[in-house]
Formats: sequence, structure tokens, C-alpha cells
Amino acid sequence: MRIIVIGGGVAGAASALALRRIGAEVAVYEAYPDPAGDVGSFVSLAANGLRGLELLGCLPAVQEAGLRVPRLRMWSAGGHLLGDVARGRRSEDPLHSVTLLRGSLVETLRAAAVAAGAELRLGERMTGATPTERGARVEFASGRTDSADLVVAADGIWSSLRGAVDPAAGRPEYAGLYTVSGVSHGIEVEPGTFNLTFARRGAFFHLAAENGEVWWGAQIDEPVAPERDGVEDAAWLRRVAEAYRREAEPSRVIAATARLHHPVLMHVLEPVRTWHRGRIVLTGDAAHPVGAGQGASMAIEDAIALAEALRTAATPKAALETYAAQRNPRIAKVLETAEDNRDAKRAGPVARRAKAVMMRLFIPLMYEKASGWLYDYRPELGASDAQVH
Ligand SMILES: Cc1cc2nc3c(=O)[nH]c(=O)nc-3n(C[C@H](O)[C@H](O)[C@H](O)COP(=O)(O)OP(=O)(O)OC[C@H]3O[C@@H](n4cnc5c(N)ncnc54)[C@H](O)[C@@H]3O)c2cc1C
Repeated sequence: MRIIVIGGGVAGAASALALRRIGAEVAVYEAYPDPAGDVGSFVSLAANGLRGLELLGCLPAVQEAGLRVPRLRMWSAGGHLLGDVARGRRSEDPLHSVTLLRGSLVETLRAAAVAAGAELRLGERMTGATPTERGARVEFASGRTDSADLVVAADGIWSSLRGAVDPAAGRPEYAGLYTVSGVSHGIEVEPGTFNLTFARRGAFFHLAAENGEVWWGAQIDEPVAPERDGVEDAAWLRRVAEAYRREAEPSRVIAATARLHHPVLMHVLEPVRTWHRGRIVLTGDAAHPVGAGQGASMAIEDAIALAEALRTAATPKAALETYAAQRNPRIAKVLETAEDNRDAKRAGPVARRAKAVMMRLFIPLMYEKASGWLYDYRPELGASDAQVH
């Protein structure tokens, strides 16, 4: 079976790896010509995503590229500790959450996919896909065309293939929040802990990295999406410092900033009802931008579930149905959690104080019970010397 993957982000690269494992011939087309490098800021992988990487054989490389973060400490706006729990895993799970630059994760997965025999073509922007009798034909802005038995749409939250698969699918809408992230120097922060402050204007995270760096990210609630073009780093930094001026620890971290990443606007999307049409199938953010620290992990889970369905089902059609049926309920639950998290981060002063009291009581008793289902997921992918259909 020949498979074209559109998009060389986390979903695309992980799909290529998983599909090579089941013996498919894979070509990945990525719109941007440059290597992933330092595009984007930090992403975190939870135990469920890391188990997927273990299965795909690239866990050590990803751990090497990032920071292992065993603990999560949650703080109130006033600096009171609300909870101290295992980060992105159950407490007994030895797989520690990893935080890394999105670019490093993408580079590592792409390198593994190429080493596994996938073709990677950079600088090829897909412009359309047309069903054919036994597959699909894809066109690119360069004038190139290519055909395959299956097209995997891993083209992210702004997916253009989503509309081809589900004409009723909505468009992503600004969520009323944007994130600025950066790297600070010259301050002490305890290593191994992801600190999350539920501040007045949004959530702020910071963690100690290597070489004296502190990585941080600040969400800012802003009903209208800010203009990003032509705004200089110093102006973004002033906005963040102003938004967090009443929170002591975030202010200390922001004041030590040495460099900034480009701000990211947060978007939400109505759940996509149909994930496949003919021989085109959606994965990762193209199907479900989940956010909530699970975007990359869910993309990895998708990749493995799709490959396993193709390996075991009698026909590609049956495989795509199995894939969607398996993934849908889990994604729906993650989306619900993401919505709750956004509400918690946007809460007004009274609701925020009430929530802080609740959290202090709830976290020691219930946190693991409430979040464990997310991390318990065990992806499966049988080794295959058999050809997929
Ligand atoms: C530039 C960028 C920065 C990001 N920064 C962060 C961040 O700082 N923190 C965070 O948590 N998450 C970030 N994300 C999102 C995060 O990577 C995803 O939520 C998650 O990893 C799921 O990945 P995905 O592969 O489904 O989508 P994405 O990571 O969005 O990857 C989609 C890929 O498809 C490519 N593509 C899109 N359209 C086409 C086309 N027509 N033809 C060919 N290729 C196409 C894109 O260039 C991109 O490489 C970022 C995403 C991007 C694209």
C-alpha cells in the first residue's frame, strides 16, 4: 500500500513512522521548506504519548531532546500552593513527562521516519486532493502531482483537507486567549517541576531547563485577537509583564527574560463529525485540536491507532471506520477536559478564589483519579511483515 501524508508536524511524522512499521510505502509532504528548527515554542508529552513513542522506537531520542519533568506544582494567583502531583502520569508510572521545543520534537520524529524508510519532501504545499477509483490524487503548489492508495491529512489546525472530508466542519475560532513564551536566565527555579500558576489574566507555567535557563509560557485573556505583525519582542514582553504584574513568581521569571518565541493565538474548533471520506483520513490537529497539553500526545496515539487499524482490518474502508470509532470517544473526553481547563484559566476573581479553595481540597484526594484515564492508555501496534492491503 502506498500512503501520502500531508504535513510533516508531529502527527505527520509519527504517522509516517507507524505506517512504515506496518510495511506501507510512505511519502510525507510538508509545506515549509526549512527544517522544523525553532518553529513554535514548548510542547509537553504525557505518559500516554511517551508510550506511543516507545512503541515507535524513538522514546530515547525524544527524552534526549527534552527535559524530564516528574512533578507538577499548581499555584494560586496569590502564590499559595494548590497541589503537588505527578506530571502527566500516574504517580507510580516511571515514564516522566517530557517538555521540549516543538521544533526539536518534530525534527526528532522526522529523522526517525526517514531512517525508517519514509520519503520526506519539504517545501511542497498541497493544494487539493481528488478521489480516484482506488485512492486519491494530490496536487501541490509546485505543480507536482502524486497518487496513493490512501492520503493521511496531518495538516494541522488550519487543515485544508478537513473541508474535503467533512464539508460541514467549522473553522477554528479564536479562543479569547493567546500565549507568549520565552526563556529566562540568571534566576533560581527548582529543577524537575512544571510550575503552573492560575493567575488573574490566564495560566502561567515555568520550569528549570539546562544551562541555567528557565522556560516559561504566559496565557493572556484578550477578547479580540491581538495584531501580531510588526509587533516587536520588547512590546510583547511589556504586555506580559503588565498582565502578570500582580503575581510575584511569574513577574520574577518574566523580568529575567533573555529571549521570546513568537506568540501563539489559541483557537477552538467545533468537534469534527467525519474523519474520513473515500481514501482521505484526518489525524492530529486536523481532526481535533485538543490543546490541554495533549495535542502532541493525541497525534502520536492517532498515528498508531491508524496504522494498527490498517494492519488488521480486511479493507482500507473498514480500517478507517475502526480508526474513527476507536479514537472518537477518547478525543471527545479530552476535548471536554480542555474546555474545563480553559474555563478554569479564564475564571473571574470570585470564581477563581472559590476554585482555589476547591482545588486545595480536591487535588490531594481526587486529582489522580480524575486524570488517570488519560495516562492509562496503552497504544498497540503489532509488528508486521505482512503487507497491508
Ligand atoms: C508553527 C507551529 C507552532 C506551534 N507551536 C506550538 C506551541 O508552541 N505549543 C504547543 O503546545 N503547540 C504548538 N503547536 C501545535 C502542536 O504542534 C500540535 O498541537 C500538535 O503537535 C499536533 O500536531 P499536528 O501534526 O497535528 O499539527 P501541526 O503541528 O500544526 O503540524 C501540521 C503540519 O502540516 C503542515 N501543513 C499545513 N498545511 C499543509 C499543506 N497544505 N501542505 C503541506 N503541509 C501542510 C504544517 O506546515 C505543519 O508542519 C504549533 C504548531 C505549529 C504548526
